[in-house]
Amino acid sequence: MQQFDLLFQQALDGLAATHRRRVVRPFTPSGADVLVRADGTRLIDFSSNDYLGLSRHPVLRTRAIEWTERYGTGAGASRLVTGTRPLHEQVEQKVARLKGTEAALLFASGWQANASLVPALARLSVEQMGASPLVFMDRLNHASLHQGCAAAGVRQIRFRHNDLEHLETLLRARLDQPGLRLILTESVFSMDGDRADVPGLAALAERYGAFLCLDEAHATGVLGKNGAGLACEAPGGVHLVMGTFSKALGGMGAYVAGSAPLCDWLLNAASGFIYSTALPPAILGAADAALDLLPSLEKDRQRVARYGEILRSHLQSAGFDTGASSTQIVPVMIGEASEALRIAAGLEAEGMLAVAIRPPTVPQGESRLRISLSSAHDEEAVIRLAKAIIRLCGRA
Ligand code: PMP
Repeated sequence: MQQFDLLFQQALDGLAATHRRRVVRPFTPSGADVLVRADGTRLIDFSSNDYLGLSRHPVLRTRAIEWTERYGTGAGASRLVTGTRPLHEQVEQKVARLKGTEAALLFASGWQANASLVPALARLSVEQMGASPLVFMDRLNHASLHQGCAAAGVRQIRFRHNDLEHLETLLRARLDQPGLRLILTESVFSMDGDRADVPGLAALAERYGAFLCLDEAHATGVLGKNGAGLACEAPGGVHLVMGTFSKALGGMGAYVAGSAPLCDWLLNAASGFIYSTALPPAILGAADAALDLLPSLEKDRQRVARYGEILRSHLQSAGFDTGASSTQIVPVMIGEASEALRIAAGLEAEGMLAVAIRPPTVPQGESRLRISLSSAHDEEAVIRLAKAIIRLCGRA
């Protein structure tokens, strides 16, 4: 035993202090946007992805409880064994309706969806086109998409973040190569809060015969008509959209939406779908209720968008770099990890939680505070946050 613990300890000791990850202490939620620390301190949460405050919404809670009472706590098996309930199909149909696609397929998490959809598409390429896929990947894509590429054993062809000219150059340079051209990107980037040019991507995909996969984890619920995300900005849609129930939809789990043959292929080839237990009734109940509520949340979407504008305008007037953010995610670029940690600690002392994001989550020298805004916040709190950051950075 001990000989292995020594290895673990040495590896941990080898991590730079500023890069050492720890679970942030436990918090108890109170009200829509407050977390209470073990010592009773109340903190406004500016780091959660609960962008519409739905995780504590009474309609979601009630349906999660009702479905648990009726169907139990677990599905007991994977979807392809005996785990499928009418609830799974109901939620899949609601997702497909929201996204305007023929079909949808549920996954246990967004991470699992991304990690297994890339290998499933790679297999399609090998079996149907006789060659490995050519995977064109935005360099800021989420870790789960990298995991998918690693699991598929494919080499990524990375394009500069949101740079469609670069992507086109890379696509053009490989016109004569065989295999499925796969473009993997996000509609809203998780650490930068900027948006992809979805119609531009769809046009490139069309021009070069590529299959476009869009991760809508941070757009689902918040952007687009009825919170459907940004895929609908492309006139012909995109080939595959994935998104999660774990962020604006206030729960857990994920979906992939697209054509019926695509979803059927994933059901046959995506190991994260096939070999994992079906989502449990409580989670499905929350997702089902959130999907029902989305069309009525237009005012909440407008409010959270306005908070983004208010925060950016305060910070930018004080000379801060908030990147290309145009959404509810606002990065405040700090640079050094130690400095980002110092400012986050200062904010916490003032009753606000905004966790510092450091390498390897973001590149070296790009440590930042990643502010996540929610319609559950109020304007006064957003302004207080901006003023505290400005003061703590000595820019007041
Ligand atoms: N994609 C993106 C862009 C994400 O930010 C995340 C969550 N951090 C995921 C996928 C994974 O989703 P989940 O948390 O549901 O596993």
